[in-house]
Amino acid sequence: MARAAHVIVAGGGPTGAVAALACAQRGFRVTVLEADTGIDDNPRAATTHPSTLEYLAQLGFIDEFIAAGLVCRYFQFWDRDTRSRVAQFDHELLRDETPYPYAVQTEQHKLVQMIVPRLAAIDGCSFSFGAEVAGVEQDADGVTVTVRRNVGTGEAAQAAATEVLRADWLIAADGGRSTVRKLLDVPFEGFTFPERFTVLTTLHDFERSLGCCWRNYLAGSQEWAMIFKVAGDDMQGRWRAVMPTRETESDEQALADASVLSRLRGLDPACELDQVVHRKTYNVHQRVAAHFRVGRVYLAGDASHLNNPIGGLGLNCGIHDAMELVETLEAARDGASEERLDRYTRRRRTLNMEFIQEQTINNKKRLEEKDPAARQRRLDELRQTEADPARQKAFLLRTSLIASVRRAATIE
Ligand SMILES: Cc1cc2nc3c(=O)[nH]c(=O)nc-3n(C[C@H](O)[C@H](O)[C@H](O)COP(=O)(O)OP(=O)(O)OC[C@H]3O[C@@H](n4cnc5c(N)ncnc54)[C@H](O)[C@@H]3O)c2cc1C
Repeated sequence: MARAAHVIVAGGGPTGAVAALACAQRGFRVTVLEADTGIDDNPRAATTHPSTLEYLAQLGFIDEFIAAGLVCRYFQFWDRDTRSRVAQFDHELLRDETPYPYAVQTEQHKLVQMIVPRLAAIDGCSFSFGAEVAGVEQDADGVTVTVRRNVGTGEAAQAAATEVLRADWLIAADGGRSTVRKLLDVPFEGFTFPERFTVLTTLHDFERSLGCCWRNYLAGSQEWAMIFKVAGDDMQGRWRAVMPTRETESDEQALADASVLSRLRGLDPACELDQVVHRKTYNVHQRVAAHFRVGRVYLAGDASHLNNPIGGLGLNCGIHDAMELVETLEAARDGASEERLDRYTRRRRTLNMEFIQEQTINNKKRLEEKDPAARQRRLDELRQTEADPARQKAFLLRTSLIASVRRAATIE
């Protein structure tokens, strides 16, 4: 029997995990190398849009994925200055466009948890933790990857733990600081915001106190915010509040009890500190790699693009990359031309610029606008979009990335 083509995936975060399972299900031998010693369960992505749910359905565990999260039919915009609702958008308008007319809030670590055992059950496939990709070389026939296994400290242990693997292709899904992208010298073009984002997780129930839904964007002339509900590992429900830090504020200052409480009480005076179960700050970037393919190496997910989390688009885009990539690798396995393989960059890079960068930059401007007239215009635009069903539907087709999937099909 012919040897199955072998794909190494650098990074076992959600993008790498999805890419790995998709490749394995299409007959590739897959080795996932994850530097961390376990699955990262810090609060990051949760919102999964209809187009992405369609992809997860193809992978065969959509029911489990939905059951692990919260089904959100609506999302709302609020004016924080007047504590009033500006507009509500209803995914039900997409019923004729997708089998999943809603977003699902399932935390990204749960997605990886669902994939690891499924991948391990497929012949020739493995998912290794504590395995860091440290070197990459390629030639006409394949890719050579140097892996450093985490076997403890000390020079001798580290030297003994270095291993060299060979594969037909390498997927770089090793996140925003991608070692592989840096080793390949691929420019990561864009900018980093001067402020960071604070993410606070609390058991305080904003739905009961504010009357909001489970995904809310709050425009504020003093401070914007985003509040949304996730299920939590215990499925009891908890809320995440995202707000900017001040540019001069250190992480310690932003995460100190007094700042955390004052930020939460700025949203709802009834918030209490003992309800806070997690606090963290993140650097925020808008960056896109200059190209997504270098020979036999393909970049996907945060390794190839970063954006602010307003709109919940980054990981969704990473999953879309992964699904386009598996088709690209199938074409490569069948001996496709360089031109065809470069379509991966043409599609994924273009879509990231047109949909993800454009929407997230605009989403942030909309929430943080301080000029009263411009602010009013932006909020009025949301009201008018909600009021006109055709406009609301067009807006939802973009926010749900259904329009981006359709646009992809037009890029050859
Ligand atoms: C607060 C916040 C909220 C967000 N909310 C949303 C949302 O609602 N919806 C959405 O779509 N997106 C959201 N995002 C974005 C989303 O979290 C990221 O896009 C997502 O984590 C990208 O997944 P990834 O697998 O590409 O990268 P990562 O999650 O960064 O995973 C990369 C993996 O590679 C590993 N790694 C790194 N270097 C190496 C190496 N050299 N060798 C081997 N392994 C390596 C890392 O340990 C890590 O596990 C949010 C982000 C933040 C910060």
